[in-house]
Order: sequence, then C-alpha cells, then structure tokens
Amino acid sequence: MWVFVEHERGHVHPVSWELIGKGRELADKLQVQLAGVVLGGTGRPVRMLCDEAIFHGADLCYLMQDEVLLDYRNQPYTKGLADLVDRFQPEALLLGATTQGRDLAGSVATTLLTGLTADCTGLDIDTSDRTLLSVRPTFGGSLMCTIVNVSTRPQMATVRPRVMPMPARDDGRRGHVIEHPLGLAEDEVVTKVIDFIPDAKAEKPQLAFADFVVAGGRGLAKPEHFNLLFDLARELGAEVGASRAAVHANRVEADRQVGQSGKTVRPKLYIAAGISGAVQHRVGMEGADVIVAINNDEKAPIMEFSNYALIGNAAELVPALTEAFRSRIAAARPHRGAE
Ligand SMILES: Cc1cc2nc3c(=O)[nH]c(=O)nc-3n(C[C@H](O)[C@H](O)[C@H](O)COP(=O)(O)OP(=O)(O)OC[C@H]3O[C@@H](n4cnc5c(N)ncnc54)[C@H](O)[C@@H]3O)c2cc1C
Repeated sequence: MWVFVEHERGHVHPVSWELIGKGRELADKLQVQLAGVVLGGTGRPVRMLCDEAIFHGADLCYLMQDEVLLDYRNQPYTKGLADLVDRFQPEALLLGATTQGRDLAGSVATTLLTGLTADCTGLDIDTSDRTLLSVRPTFGGSLMCTIVNVSTRPQMATVRPRVMPMPARDDGRRGHVIEHPLGLAEDEVVTKVIDFIPDAKAEKPQLAFADFVVAGGRGLAKPEHFNLLFDLARELGAEVGASRAAVHANRVEADRQVGQSGKTVRPKLYIAAGISGAVQHRVGMEGADVIVAINNDEKAPIMEFSNYALIGNAAELVPALTEAFRSRIAAARPHRGAE
C-alpha cells in the first residue's frame, strides 16, 4: 500500500498525512506494509519527509531525489513515480485529489495502463479478493458509488483533502528508506520553471485548513448580507465559505465555494447561513465537528445533519451572533493589569 507524499519544496500538503492514516488502516486489513513515496530535489528537507511519513504511520519510504524534481512538473514526476511502481510493484497507490495529485495520478495511471478512481470520499478493502473499494459521488452527487478495479494493478485513487482524519504523529516510530534514481536529465524535460510563488503569499482563502468556517447561501439575499458574514468571520478568526448558489450570484469569489465542485472543509465549527444543505454542498462540509444551521425553514435538509439550528432570518441572526461572540470573547479576555 503506497501513499504519494505531496510537497512543495519540503512543505507537505496535509492530505498526504491524512492518506498515510487511512493507508495504515487499509494496509493492516491487507496485512501488507505501508510505504510513503517522496520525490523531490536533493537536500535534507526532502529526505526528512521520509521520517515524517514513518512518524505518521508508514513502515518504510521510497525516496527519489534529483534537482530535476525540485519543483513539480508532470513529465519528470510521472517518470519517477511510474518507474518506482514498475520496479517495486505496489498493490495500491493513493494520492491527494489536489491540483498536483490530480495531474500526476492521471498521467501515471495512463503510463501504467491501470485504473484510477478520482476524487474519492471513502476507501476500504474487500479482504475476500484484496480489492480497493473506492467510494465517490456520482450522477451529479445524488448517489454514492463504489468503484472496484478488478483487472489491473496498481489500484489507484485520489482522495480529497480533509475527508480523512489526520493521524497522530509518533516520532518514536522507525522504518527504512529505499532510494531510487530518476534517470532523466534537465534538458530532456520540456517545461521549465520560471518562478516559484508559495501559496501563502498568493493571499488566496485558505478554506480547506480553517478551524472555523462561516458560510453563506442564497438565503443571504442581498450583497450587503455577505458583509455581515465577513464581520462574524473576523470576530471568530474564521474563513468565509459559500454555497454554489451564492458564488453564482457573485456574492464571493469561486475560491470560497464549499462542496462537490468546490472545497472540502473539515473545521471544528461550520456555520451555514441561508444554505439549504443540498447533497452537493453537504459532501464538502459534513466532516465538520460542529455544524450550526441558520435558516428560516425548520424543514430545510441541512437540519438533518446539523448539531444546532437557529431558525429565523439570517440577516438578523448573523449580526446577533457576531455581537454575542464579541461580548463573550471580550469577557473571556484577562483584564489589563489583573494578576
Ligand atoms: C454537479 C453539481 C455540482 C454542484 N456543486 C456544488 C457545490 O460544490 N457546492 C454547493 O453549495 N452546491 C453545489 N451544487 C448546487 C446544489 O445542488 C444547490 O443548488 C446549492 O447548494 C444551493 O445553494 P443554497 O443552499 O445557497 O441555495 P438554496 O438551495 O436556494 O437554499 C437557500 C436556503 O436559504 C434559506 N433561506 C431563505 N431566506 C432565508 C433567510 N432570510 N434567512 C435564513 N434562511 C433563509 C432557505 O430556506 C433555503 O434553505 C452543485 C450542483 C450540481 C448539479
């Protein structure tokens, strides 16, 4: 059981550790070893990712280091990963359903002439025939289906970030590292990296990793209602999310859409104001620890899977909530000069 460890110059995408956690469970069912796979530039930070993969639950790690692999490019990464698979023959290979993971998984599956289930929300093993059961939404999200690859190996799947829980890290775990060369020169690669701009500097909403998300839907009817949502978000230190209906109404940018065709979030708290809870929205946020629905219809579908409901007009309840949090937070702050 292999998990591709996605990183940018040594900064790992958390979905990789989420997949190591799930991979551990699947490997134990199959009674096989779990391996991380790290590709990257030369140097210690990349090598140390192998230790991290082991700390998060892997038994061993395959490592391919070459300056050609410093930044992600499809051609060298596809060659590197496909060569490793050819050489070591895993039964299954999991990648994050991120921009990079989706790009790489498709070309590796094509190179290896094997099947790939993209964008999974659940994984399991059928122990009777050792197949990977990959669960994902289908028919526009109205049904969940289980996809099985019976005839080719490895079985490949990409999984969305924040769908699987983060495993505990144990730096007492030990495992071994197997190195393998890339065997590709820079002048054989057709794309060149001109510049590298880290995501954190791009000032995009970091919705997928937020602990608190306040999201708005069509029920926040006027553009200024979304300002109320941003006020609440500032008070809580939350990110603002939205339903597709709100994005289509140009209330916020598409980067903030939560759901099947948007982001998957897994915050501690998700406040959904004026969102009905359609299945395509639900799949993106039902992993939240606590869901609070604000809706004027007590029979809205979101009521079936929210922990708390505030029934009423969101345009009035959102600012009331902001005010309530503001006074609670102020009261909880230690008084200046107090011991
Ligand atoms: C292939 C496909 C992919 C999709 N992907 C996504 C996706 O990623 N994310 C997503 O969100 N949707 C997605 N959708 C759309 C989805 O099916 C719903 O249409 C959408 O989620 C509805 O958004 P909404 O809840 O904001 O609007 P509505 O369904 O119109 O719900 C509005 C809610 O607000 C309530 N309301 C109205 N007025 C007030 C008020 N004054 N105060 C409080 N509550 C009020 C209503 O009771 C209602 O429950 C997708 C659809 C398809 C077909």
